[in-house]
Amino acid sequence: RPEGTRHPRLLAVLGDPVEHSLSPPMHNAAFRATGLPFTYIAVRVGPGELRRAVDALRVLGARGANVTVPHKEAAAQLAEWLSAEAREAGAVNTLVFEEGRVLGYSTDGAGFCRALDEVAHFDPAGRRVVLLGAGGAARAVALALAARGAAAVRVVNRTQERARALVERILASGRGTEARACPWPQDTPGWEDVLRGGDLVVQATSLGLARSGPDPWRDLPFQVTAGTALATDLIYGPGGSPFLRAAARAGLRTLAGDWMLLYQGAEAFRLWTGVEAPVALMRSVLDRLLKGGSD
Ligand code: NDP
Repeated sequence: RPEGTRHPRLLAVLGDPVEHSLSPPMHNAAFRATGLPFTYIAVRVGPGELRRAVDALRVLGARGANVTVPHKEAAAQLAEWLSAEAREAGAVNTLVFEEGRVLGYSTDGAGFCRALDEVAHFDPAGRRVVLLGAGGAARAVALALAARGAAAVRVVNRTQERARALVERILASGRGTEARACPWPQDTPGWEDVLRGGDLVVQATSLGLARSGPDPWRDLPFQVTAGTALATDLIYGPGGSPFLRAAARAGLRTLAGDWMLLYQGAEAFRLWTGVEAPVALMRSVLDRLLKGGSD
């Protein structure tokens, strides 16, 4: 347990955009319920500004931070120590400031797999994964799925160099998972090629995060996936996910990204406080906010 003080210690989620994040109300409710002296805020941090933001938090005596789009890879660069998961993924979503040092962890992969296990009851062992995206979250998810024995991962990303770099990481992890980089499809036949036979389709890009403009997923040919396929979208928010709606229309099972948010947050909570997170309470906060209620 942290030293008890009158004044709560600061935690923050650093990203851009970050206004949509449900991490502050989720964690603050958990701190209130457990009586732990922390307070959690969202801070918009532009590209290239992560180091300054982390230095500022440390000056303020913060306990740590979550790091989100687009800073997860930069956070892995600036941490002075990395957990095995963070090192393997080359991405950090949780920083802990410990005795003058910045420790970097990745709780995304564990959070994702816990949601697969406990909510979707989906065992990735031996399954074929279609992964959209090759950023920090995609890397953590891909490496966690390889560690759980996924048979193959198709990495579909706009920037091919990044897709190839993730494929190299998956192959280097030595888990026997096949991996292939695919260009971002430009038409329906192209999407059919990447989705065909997939058992698990993971939407791990930030496309659609802004929730404006036309629905990029409406015409995705999900029907070419395997009969029992599961689709999941890391993007969450009130009103649900257009990606998952399209998948459901084609008969796929779906897993909402807020479950990953819950479980990656629970693991970060434990790293900062040394106490197990009150997961049921955190879930009820997310339910209320995703239905459009206020905290
Ligand atoms: P990064 O910035 O590291 O990566 C962004 C990814 O999105 C890259 O693969 C990028 O491709 C791709 N992308 C961005 N814009 C487009 C576009 N217009 N068309 C196609 N691809 C695009 O972000 P993160 O990996 O940290 O996060 C990705 C998403 O996952 C975010 O939406 C984030 O909110 C969500 N997330 C949710 C979590 C949860 O708990 N539910 C946890 C972590 C993340 P390119 O390489 O070509 O730039």
